[in-house]
Amino acid sequence: MTASSPLPFERVRRLIESEGALPIATYMAIANAHYYATRDPLGRLGDFTTAPEISQMFGELMGLWLADSWHRAGRPDAALVELGPGRGTLMADALRALSRVPGLSKAPVHLVETSPTLRKAQRQRIPAAHWHDDIASLPQDRALLVIANEFFDALPVRQFVRTGGGWRERMVALDGAGRFMAVAGRGNMDPLIPPPLADSPDGAIVETSPASIAITSALADMIQRQGGAALIVDYGYEGPAAGDTLQGMKEHRYADVFSNVGDVDLTAHVDFAALAEAARLRGAHAYGPVEQGVLLERLGIAARASALKQTNPTRAADIDADVERLTSAMAMGSLFKALAITGPGWPIPGGF
Ligand code: SAH
Repeated sequence: MTASSPLPFERVRRLIESEGALPIATYMAIANAHYYATRDPLGRLGDFTTAPEISQMFGELMGLWLADSWHRAGRPDAALVELGPGRGTLMADALRALSRVPGLSKAPVHLVETSPTLRKAQRQRIPAAHWHDDIASLPQDRALLVIANEFFDALPVRQFVRTGGGWRERMVALDGAGRFMAVAGRGNMDPLIPPPLADSPDGAIVETSPASIAITSALADMIQRQGGAALIVDYGYEGPAAGDTLQGMKEHRYADVFSNVGDVDLTAHVDFAALAEAARLRGAHAYGPVEQGVLLERLGIAARASALKQTNPTRAADIDADVERLTSAMAMGSLFKALAITGPGWPIPGGF
């Protein structure tokens, strides 16, 4: 680490000492920027495992979902886009499924990724891709076919806590021993609380993710103008709802969000209703959310699994276990959900 980029603990500590307590969102942004920039967190040896890392079927079905919408929309010029592609596994699986779709197999691939470490992994799987720091530089002359899996949960949330003195922003401060702790900010945040939640009991927490809303709005704006379809998959809920969903993950276990800043994956559940509303406000259509298990079944995961088992009979039990993990309500099937955003005149997307 160079002097201009101090370790995140020092950076947060200095910010708190110079400016006072920091909003949770600022803390989460600093923590995750460091976390993702400095490692590949995925898989058994990492901190968490995502759907595309469980099975190739996930990326294949996402790719075919995009192809189906594109086909029924009249096969316009299009770019394939992924937000936060991790190791590039999902896009590589999608591209293999699309390799026999004339008109789409050669579509340019655009990846939005801030982590240099993960860009390197992506380049190994998809050498011809184009990389972007954010969605603003995506192509503006063609339809966008967008996938985002476990991207929005990594974006910062603001938290508000109900106190005797009204709603306050939840902030990060230093305790006497130099450790981070949550405190209530001074300003009154009552006007920012959705009316149905205003009367929550003392101690209740309400979250919003301005970064997620901003990205969804900008993406929906492009899809509204250029045409396209986006499939957003993540764990989350349909708000408004109260609850502290900020969680830390380290080596597949829950970890304290205020310890080892930048070395623990910080996520928050995604409010799909808020994303859908942001998309509709920009004139795009939004569908769902639909539970991941339901969507994968509707998209034909059972048939895909049968075909895979026929070509890999020795792996049949593993393939069944993968389907179970992706679709069962006991595993990822219900907590994970999918939201679709489409442009005007585009068909109702498959599975929704
Ligand atoms: N989609 C992948 C990886 C999920 S992890 C999968 O399903 O396996 C989150 C991904 O989002 C990582 O690639 C991370 O580097 C990226 N990311 C996190 N914050 C980002 C931001 N603000 N802009 C762009 N990419 C971001």
